[in-house]
Amino acid sequence: MITLKFGGTSMANARRILASADIIINRAKEDRLSVVVSAAAGVSNTLQAAIDACVSGISGTNYVNDIRNTHNEICLELQSKLPGFDAEKTMAKIEPNFGELEKLLAGCVSFGECPDTVHCRIMGMGELLSAPIMENVLLAKKQSVIFLDSRKFVFTTGNQKEGEADYSACNEACAPFRDGASPQQTRILLFPGFICTFNGGSGTKPVMGLLGRNGSDFSAAIIGASLRAKRVEFWTDVDGVYTADPRVVKDAILVDDMSYEEAMELSFFGSKVLHPKTIAPLQAKGIEAWSLNSHNPSARGTRIGQGPFESRGKSSICGISSLKHVSMISVGGSLMRGRTGMASKIFSAVSSAGSSILLITQSSSEYTISFCVRDSEADIVKDALEAKFELEIREKLIDAIDVRKDCAIVSVVGDGMIANRGVAGKFLNALSSQDINILAIAQGSSERCISAVIENEYADTAVRAVHQFFFHTAQTIEVFAFGAGTIGGTMIDQIRDQREKLLKENVDIKVLCITTIDGMLLNEDGLDLSNWRDQMKKPDFPFNSNQNVDDIIKFVREKKPLNPVFVDCTASYDLPERYLDILNAGMSIATPNKRANSMDIKFYHELRRTANKMHRRFLYETNVGAGLPIIDTLQNLYKSGDKLDHFNGIMSGSLSYIFGKLDEGVPFSQAVLEAKELRYTEPDPRDDLNGMDVARKGLIIARESGYDIELSDIQMFKVFPDNFDSSGTVEEFLKKLPEVDDYFAKKIADLKKKGKVLRMGATIKDGKVSVGMMEVGQDDPLYSVKGGENAFVFYTERYQPIPLTVRGYGAGAGVTAAGVFGDILRTVSFNPER
Ligand code: ADP
Ligand code: ASP
Ligand code: MG
Repeated sequence: MITLKFGGTSMANARRILASADIIINRAKEDRLSVVVSAAAGVSNTLQAAIDACVSGISGTNYVNDIRNTHNEICLELQSKLPGFDAEKTMAKIEPNFGELEKLLAGCVSFGECPDTVHCRIMGMGELLSAPIMENVLLAKKQSVIFLDSRKFVFTTGNQKEGEADYSACNEACAPFRDGASPQQTRILLFPGFICTFNGGSGTKPVMGLLGRNGSDFSAAIIGASLRAKRVEFWTDVDGVYTADPRVVKDAILVDDMSYEEAMELSFFGSKVLHPKTIAPLQAKGIEAWSLNSHNPSARGTRIGQGPFESRGKSSICGISSLKHVSMISVGGSLMRGRTGMASKIFSAVSSAGSSILLITQSSSEYTISFCVRDSEADIVKDALEAKFELEIREKLIDAIDVRKDCAIVSVVGDGMIANRGVAGKFLNALSSQDINILAIAQGSSERCISAVIENEYADTAVRAVHQFFFHTAQTIEVFAFGAGTIGGTMIDQIRDQREKLLKENVDIKVLCITTIDGMLLNEDGLDLSNWRDQMKKPDFPFNSNQNVDDIIKFVREKKPLNPVFVDCTASYDLPERYLDILNAGMSIATPNKRANSMDIKFYHELRRTANKMHRRFLYETNVGAGLPIIDTLQNLYKSGDKLDHFNGIMSGSLSYIFGKLDEGVPFSQAVLEAKELRYTEPDPRDDLNGMDVARKGLIIARESGYDIELSDIQMFKVFPDNFDSSGTVEEFLKKLPEVDDYFAKKIADLKKKGKVLRMGATIKDGKVSVGMMEVGQDDPLYSVKGGENAFVFYTERYQPIPLTVRGYGAGAGVTAAGVFGDILRTVSFNPER
């Protein structure tokens, strides 16, 4: 004998029912079967909705008609597909159920309530409708099948709607159907799941009961155990048990083998794949359970049995689950400390309210006991506690009972935890990487499960983050590219070209949003980058910088991507004012825009504080030297305790070019013109020559080196002699420029005699930044820097007398975009193992 259970999705329509029947027939070739079926998908939910409606006075007729139509359609389709299946006869067989349902619902409407027995009779109707259809399908396929009413085989006690099995009664009832119990035995025994007979105790009449929502799994376990099945198979719509709910974690991993204990913990803490009570009866009898896919019967499935299993290797956890919509209730007060019996008094109050406790934690001071129950039960539990502790509350020995609703329990489960350290640490790190507030933590004494209570809205994010940490599945980066001009556009192309390669290294980078002056594209699953420039012609939102930022923030708050990075590739002066909002929304920022870092020092520190508080990064490597590693190098020096003594740098391609040309005897005005023609300068070369851009970079380097200075503290030395008037339009200016050629030619000639050259850049000494021309000798690293090249020369405590020098091209779309891309990659929370 083996037991097969087909869930709602395997009974959802004619096609699914026929596929399930084929599985049954195949199995029946080898073994006798007991088959348990659920209601067709959605029917139990409709029944529950009907009860809710009727209790509030709305007629149930529409619901009944809906359900009748569903079954009628299934039957008609079966008739068209399966010779020998008679739709009319099948419908006639189940028709009395619809009549009864209508009456029961009408009763709810008139009384305005739905007593437990009526509830069970209504809810159990789904299985009483689906099972006869399966029976007729099997009969049409000439199978030896008998329909057995589970209410004569499954007996429960405790709670009518969600009972505990009375195994001795079940055993006795099932005995005549066990293998070998009689000579001529039917090959397939067919049971409706979910329903049972409930025994409320002495003096009460046995009535119809249920096994709780999702309870057909439990039916199969009870029937399998009572019939002494050698295996119980749970046929559903996924290939087995995954490391997390595949609807939440898209790259969840299928688990081949799982111990009974693991399956029990996972299902108890919310994994919907099996009803939580399913495993215990199977474990007690050593019966293996299999989770299989009726939509893909050739998949191996997951085996649940007596571990340990070789297939599991050393991986210490096997799954992550979340139980949503729970409330955390805390009872605390001075009386609690050292008093015996407090816990039992609390828990007896909870059980008298008919509620079950999902998780308990107690602070080590014994000052507070906290526990979780379902949200729907929180109010009655609170009332029960207040009644029980009325006196203590009045005397202020116990504080008011605190109820925190809308919580979720997230759990990691695995046998390997017993032998492996560090699981709790990793778990909490994963939660904190998403800045998720942990309200309580509990570890079962079996050391097989650690749970954290968090706010309900973060449950899915938590499961995804924890999954990444434990299973090294691809870490995601969600890019919001604000400004896709030369640098931003190049960066998007680079991301497009590197995506596949990064995926192999476990980094899944997606661009969710692109903004240009044409508008904004936004897509939750990531934009198709193959033709993003074309898509930009039909944007999802019109361009409006502030509104676009608001929309991005709203999107991130709602969808909670794991690692959102806002990339500011604009030269905007205003956008950096929004950086605090963006960080506070939980995004990292990567940007080549220097504006934020050259605003006042208060803002500079506030940005960093906010990023730290939010566990996000603020990255701006390209603020100076484009793709050259300046900021990171400097930060590492500073963090490791080195100190800047002084600094010299040529930090502008145009100034590098112009002053380099002077060495060769080129007149100043001609050098400027050439630089302009080569597009090294801004459209107005005075914007380079006034040194402001260099000053901003110098300011950032000084701040990164630990000096709290402002832009206005920087000493600016003019390039032009006092008698030169540099005003007017660009043309006028360029026309007048030859007037200074002699001035520069003389300077250069004088310096040449001393073996020196003229350069323009920034110097930092004693915490003071100055910008202007420098006289540079042959042994200075800046001596040979020209032709557009940049150089950064750091003299520090450790780098003396030979300085740390970084040189190379410090501008250009390609290197700058690559620098921003590098910053984006730095936001991933841990280094994947190769
Ligand atoms: P059935 O109707 O067959 O009982 P359910 O919908 O009750 O099916 O359970 C199957 C669903 O459980 C899957 O579709 C899946 O989305 C969900 N699920 C939740 N957690 C897991 C998990 N860890 N592994 C597999 N499925 C899971
Ligand atoms: N039909 C019931 C429910 O949806 C039982 C089950 O399918 O397991 O809860
Ligand atoms: Mg189920």
